[in-house]
Amino acid sequence: MTFHESPDDAGSRLAAVRAAMAKAAALAKRPADAVTLIAVSKTHGVDAIRPLIDAGQRVFGENRVQEAEAKWPALREENTDLALHLIGQLQSNKADAAVALFDAIHSVDRGSVVAALARAMDKQGRRPDCFVQVNIGAEEQKGGCVVGDLPALLAEARVVDLPVRGLMCVPPADVEPAPYFALLAKIARDNGLSGLSMGMSGDYETAIMIGATHVRVGTALFGGRG
Ligand SMILES: *Cc1c(COP(=O)(O)O)cnc(C)c1O
Repeated sequence: MTFHESPDDAGSRLAAVRAAMAKAAALAKRPADAVTLIAVSKTHGVDAIRPLIDAGQRVFGENRVQEAEAKWPALREENTDLALHLIGQLQSNKADAAVALFDAIHSVDRGSVVAALARAMDKQGRRPDCFVQVNIGAEEQKGGCVVGDLPALLAEARVVDLPVRGLMCVPPADVEPAPYFALLAKIARDNGLSGLSMGMSGDYETAIMIGATHVRVGTALFGGRG
């Protein structure tokens, strides 16, 4: 893992993260544009988000539907080319709102959510890319489908034509994440999925070297969440 200096303006922080991403991709002999940077703006207000948009960032991540509904309509009116990804747990009763607001949903983790999302997509004629979240460390407190249940959940998603593009994980804290990233990559490959949403501020370079297609970076771009 690399030590990141944390410059205090958004443009410099974005440049530093992009440079580190490019370096990790080059080390893995992957094209730099193979990885999408999702700037995780949860808890940060529009005044903290605007400088990052002005610096060129276009893809953002939020973990709560309601918070995103409060912040993003105005920002999207100012910038029509932004993409918004949902990275936090989704309740079935928020599926309609999530499909209306988000361009991708990284937290599909159970049958009720699969069904609710499919219904909302059919109703709205909008089909955000979906990632199935895997509880890769089999941790009790953590969201995500356990590895053993994944084939059945993916089968359910196929039946209702949910556009599943890949898998997502948050590995256990405070241990080396690489083995978990590698496991997620293998499971995705075994299931014919090419998308890999993995890597956060502390480990996105490692994730990129192991094949991440989407990294979700908050603190390294926005500073601490206080
Ligand atoms: C908050 C969050 C992130 C970003 O975490 P940082 O360590 O601040 O980069 C990424 N993924 C998920 C699911 C999150 O909830």
